[in-house]
Amino acid sequence: MAVPKRRTSRSKRNKRRSHDALTPVNVVECPQCGESTLPHRVCRRCGSYRGRQLVEVNE
Ligand SMILES: [Zn+2]
Repeated sequence: MAVPKRRTSRSKRNKRRSHDALTPVNVVECPQCGESTLPHRVCRRCGSYRGRQLVEVNE
């Protein structure tokens, strides 16, 4: 099995990890019920999207 010849320097390691950060999820408020939802998706609580009721929600 291949083994690294030398230890990765702090600089090299940190530069590699500079792209590892996660971006926070974008949340928007449902105009129907005010619940936080993901954009361009049917609301989990009231089942509406773009002002129309699309999915029936059981409590
Ligand atoms: Zn809603």
